[in-house]
Amino acid sequence: MTNLRIPGPTPCPPEVLEAMGRQMINHRGAEFQRMVLDVTDKLKKLFLTKNDVFLLTGSGTGGLEAAVVNSFSPGDKVLAVSIGVFGDRLATIARTYGADVTVIKSEWGKAADTKLIKAALDKDPAIKAVMVTHNETSTGVTNDLTTIAQTVKPYDKLFIVDAISSIGSIELPVDEWGVDVMVTGSQKSWMVPPGMAMVAISEKGWKANAAAKIPRFYWDFGKAKKYFEKGGQTPWTPAVSIVFALNVALDMMLKEGLPNIQARHHKLGKMTRDGVKALGLKLFADEAHASDTVTAILGTDGLDAKLLNKVMRDEYDIVLSGGQMELEGKIFRIGHLGWVNEKDIKAVLDALKTALPKAGFKKA
Ligand SMILES: *Cc1c(COP(=O)(O)O)cnc(C)c1O
Repeated sequence: MTNLRIPGPTPCPPEVLEAMGRQMINHRGAEFQRMVLDVTDKLKKLFLTKNDVFLLTGSGTGGLEAAVVNSFSPGDKVLAVSIGVFGDRLATIARTYGADVTVIKSEWGKAADTKLIKAALDKDPAIKAVMVTHNETSTGVTNDLTTIAQTVKPYDKLFIVDAISSIGSIELPVDEWGVDVMVTGSQKSWMVPPGMAMVAISEKGWKANAAAKIPRFYWDFGKAKKYFEKGGQTPWTPAVSIVFALNVALDMMLKEGLPNIQARHHKLGKMTRDGVKALGLKLFADEAHASDTVTAILGTDGLDAKLLNKVMRDEYDIVLSGGQMELEGKIFRIGHLGWVNEKDIKAVLDALKTALPKAGFKKA
């Protein structure tokens, strides 16, 4: 079987795939509505939130777009904290809909600097919201979200977090950290195929929603709430099979337990980092903020990162990711989130040992 080691879509357990293959049922019938309510309850347990949680059919980016159109009016001042490709994407979505976006950028590979966030909020009291990526999948960096949350809290801004590749694998207690709009996606930590974004909206998020004038229809949280309150419906036909799959995957996750899942990811993240360093490779990310769901590695010492991924795929049946945008050809990435264990990572490290020299790497 192919060892799919990219940061989403991640492999799915057989029980989940079996659930995906179930015959269709009426999405407005009692059985499905009960399942939507169950899935939502289970998600709340793993998000550690009492806020409203909705299933939105679409990929993670759709969830980010939903966060934007439900929170802002054209001209609203927004602070976007970007440390990579996905932080830039969220800023671009807000700008696309007419928000007045100020971007704080970090050098790629580094985490966000809370001092800069504080300075920006001090400088412009009219800023309405702070948007931040929890785990920047493109660089393999996890922001110190609890410190960012504490920094933002006294300013009483709307706090929007792209947690697409973190929550479920990396600690993010939504209520405790005061996240007003949290977005994640089915194909990352949740061990199910792509197709569903899951969002959590706080009371402050609803206040912003009531004032937000950006036009919206498909992504309207108000419609999602209205239909959910009918007893577990969604305004539009949802990705029914993904809900079947999610229902099974969430049971598996609750059985393993959130602290155990997070500990497993931490252990595998460290195992990956230690393993690649032992091979003589260099991490792209500042190790103090290295992600436990994805590791980015520099193409140094003659290594052709693109060729390496080809060799790994063709000769070892292991699929790794490359770099995105400016990082294309400069790094490669190993995904270790969701349905993953030590054996999967050991197989990658073992294969790298013999694949690296074939891709030009001259060291160790
Ligand atoms: C994967 C990812 C996205 C994009 O999600 P899609 O499902 O591809 O639309 C956005 N942000 C982060 C941090 C991601 O990891």
